Amino acid sequence: MDVKKIYMDADALLEGHFKLSSGNHSQFYLQSAKVLEDPRTAQLLARALADEIKESGLKIDTVCAPALGGLIAGFALAQALDVRYIFAERVDGVMSIRRGFEVSKGEKVLMCEDIITTGGSAMEAAAVVKELGGEIVGVVALANRGFCKRENSDVTTKPNCKLPQNIPFFALEDFTFEMYSPDACPLCKDGSEAIKPGSRGN
Ligand code: ZN
Repeated sequence: MDVKKIYMDADALLEGHFKLSSGNHSQFYLQSAKVLEDPRTAQLLARALADEIKESGLKIDTVCAPALGGLIAGFALAQALDVRYIFAERVDGVMSIRRGFEVSKGEKVLMCEDIITTGGSAMEAAAVVKELGGEIVGVVALANRGFCKRENSDVTTKPNCKLPQNIPFFALEDFTFEMYSPDACPLCKDGSEAIKPGSRGN
């Protein structure tokens, strides 16, 4: 599956000057919402991920996604895996599980994001699931921004990766774009201003 082509065809691989949720700047941004606005594409990607996960033999009870980014991918993946689906959300900046969702002791939970960069949000949500008694058995994303090593890829783990090394990480593609801290960003040095993706029409 050519995930890069899917993002390009959906005008979801943006070029410009972006401020990422980590605070770093980048010339590129993957706007997964544009890919997932077509439910058939969402299902296609989710089925490909589900196949890879099933092949690995991983046992899963539930998919959990951190809102907002992981919501659609998580739902589609849970459907493809035919398992339960819950989500975590930020309340006053703190990741929480609400809406009456329960997690049983020992429940095997797969964390799902649209894009994993360092895995920070996924692991924040994972900590809440663990507190409730769940067991995190894996992490999955449509695409990997290249900080963490996914299953079946040569891209190596970088120090910024926050995903634990003892659980598998699945993704369909590696996108290894350069990222800069704001004070070392060449785009800032050229005088342009980083924008938060999702604002100003993108
Ligand atoms: Zn910049």
